[in-house]
Amino acid sequence: MSENILDTPIEFLKGVGPVRADLLTKELGIRNFRRLLFHLPFRYVDRSQFHQVSDIVSDAGFVQLKGEFTKVQEIGVGRKMRLSAVFEDESGRIECVWFKGAKWIKPKIHYGKTYILYGKPSLYKNTWNITHPDFESMDARRGRPEQPLQPVYSSTEKLSGKGLHTNGLMKLIQNLLPQVNGGVPETLPQWLIDKMKFPAREKAILGLHAPTDLKSIEAFRTRLKFEELFFLQLVLLLKKNQQTIELPGVRFERVGEKFNQFYAEKLPFELTNAQKRVIKEIRGDVNTGRHMSRLLQGDVGSGKTIVALICALIAIDNGFQVALMAPTEILATQHMESFTKMLEGMDVNVALLTGSVKTAARKEIHSALEDGSLDILIGTHALIEPKVKFQNLGLAIVDEQHRFGVAQRAKLWKKAALAPHVLVMTATPIPRTLAMTVYGDLDVSVIDELPPGRKEIRTVHRFDKSRLKVFQFIRDEIAKGRQIYVVYPLIEESQAMDYKDLMDGYESVTRAFPAPDYRVSIVHGKMKPEDKDFEMRQFAEGKSQILVATTVIEVGVNVPNASVMVIESSERFGLSQLHQLRGRVGRGAEQSYCILMTGEKLSNDARTRLETMCRTNDGFEIAEVDLDLRGPGDLMGTQQSGDLPLDLADLVKDKQLLVTARHIAEQVLEEDPHLDADQNRLLKEGVKRIRRGKQDWSRIS
Ligand code: ADP
Ligand code: MG
Repeated sequence: MSENILDTPIEFLKGVGPVRADLLTKELGIRNFRRLLFHLPFRYVDRSQFHQVSDIVSDAGFVQLKGEFTKVQEIGVGRKMRLSAVFEDESGRIECVWFKGAKWIKPKIHYGKTYILYGKPSLYKNTWNITHPDFESMDARRGRPEQPLQPVYSSTEKLSGKGLHTNGLMKLIQNLLPQVNGGVPETLPQWLIDKMKFPAREKAILGLHAPTDLKSIEAFRTRLKFEELFFLQLVLLLKKNQQTIELPGVRFERVGEKFNQFYAEKLPFELTNAQKRVIKEIRGDVNTGRHMSRLLQGDVGSGKTIVALICALIAIDNGFQVALMAPTEILATQHMESFTKMLEGMDVNVALLTGSVKTAARKEIHSALEDGSLDILIGTHALIEPKVKFQNLGLAIVDEQHRFGVAQRAKLWKKAALAPHVLVMTATPIPRTLAMTVYGDLDVSVIDELPPGRKEIRTVHRFDKSRLKVFQFIRDEIAKGRQIYVVYPLIEESQAMDYKDLMDGYESVTRAFPAPDYRVSIVHGKMKPEDKDFEMRQFAEGKSQILVATTVIEVGVNVPNASVMVIESSERFGLSQLHQLRGRVGRGAEQSYCILMTGEKLSNDARTRLETMCRTNDGFEIAEVDLDLRGPGDLMGTQQSGDLPLDLADLVKDKQLLVTARHIAEQVLEEDPHLDADQNRLLKEGVKRIRRGKQDWSRIS
């Protein structure tokens, strides 16, 4: 291909020049023709229809008016200054207001000229007005080719000041379009374009800048979104194949003595079918010589720990060591406790390594690891420090709860000559489509069944005004011998206020449940670790009946006798957090309850969250709603989803397209695992491009 016109610096486009070029680069990263071409419209306005001022009866949609400005004035001063103008057509007049940009808008308005005005009317003090309308003169409109659907581009205040608001950008892009002419290379192979009935890439991009109808816009966008999702899936699946099929794994051939002994003598309960199935899936990975990278999803309380333990025994039976990494010290300690308890009387050495292990003990652990006498090392991030060396690490288990990134997982694998098998356990169910992307390089197992005898937790929503009734209910439960959690939100920005709420709450609880009949514990992040431990233990040992706490109890606490979870200001919590908190009860044989307290005023989202919680205990269903409400970024934490090279595609709205992309990517790789076939040449190139980590991967031609 000849040198591409799209590489031309933006300065040289008609209508740009050095000053605007500089600003375009600084403000929008548009350095060359290509980047401008890929500055796609974010919406369109239908310019084929005109309204009359007297037609305006609702604020439901945008209107396009034709008329004149009859008055323009600046109102107020300084930052509060706004620009107000009266716009008239033959049917009436309407006020226009700009709160920003008065400086560059005012000079564009000339009396006696005809303008086309576009905006969304709203009712203010009983008269209609339009805030921040777009407008252009009839002369300017005539100068442009007729385009019924006019693209709207995002811009910035500074660019607008230089005449590059949406219309200015549109003009530049219109100057560019005729020159493109074959400059946008195809990225998808012809067979795939045919199969999906997609438009060519160039056609899609040009078409989005100059569309003729809404249907084609949809088709063009779909093509580009598919491409993003498809290449992402290819990259992930290639990585997965590399990790599993191609990477030699240590082979756990034997079901040995320890496994058998545990099964025969120590198994504390009959495994659920889901647990058995998952263990089988894991066995299927580890005894074949292929490498395991598996995500184990199971709701809180579904019994992942024993699955981890059994896998650990298989590794040990085959002469390997095991690492179990947890996100918090509490959780690591809890794993240590349950492992030690379940392994009592067996010849398996387990140690705990966390940040608070003293140097001498730490050294002992290090040497026991290196001489191979230690079988299982449980810990926090401390495990991935370079000083921690295993003699023979065969299995790395990560109890993740969303807190470890991909990079941290990778560090664990580097701790052995042959990459150890990796089992990532997560307690927060991840919607399928998200798992496909964020964990797209892993195989997935699901424990979708709770141990028998668990009663569904009953969840109700109560307003603050019914607090007395709630207290009475708590009193009755305590009288039956149960224990109660009362949780307060603690959100970073409003810490001081939140602590006050917490302390006020604690006071009112102690007043309603006074000593000596009752004992109330309190736990929050500002307490000294000793004090926290003490209070926590009081509750765990049943010496206090009520635990007032912040979300520190979200992970790690296991008090089967606690049967009521009261969540204060629950409208402020996210869904997955509510679900996690609720998982603290329902661990014993008794009927458990979750009471969601709120004030009277609730946003629509909050209402949806509360309704969802009351409707279902199913973590997967909750996760789906959460994803819809919050979007993938918030759900996964930015460090994970921010890496996704998605500009147009949206993991929530484009679910179906994602599933299709995944499916086709799987098919392609099944037939052509390394994309060596001639017909997949473009795919191979696309994958390389993404791996090179170019920021604008979707934009490279
Ligand atoms: P999580 O998946 O949240 O880590 P745990 O492994 O902590 O769940 O298990 C929760 C509780 O259920 C523990 O007390 C555990 O002993 C118990 N448990 C796990 N599996 C079973 C089972 N098959 N039958 C009965 N109880 C079980
Ligand atoms: Mg667990």
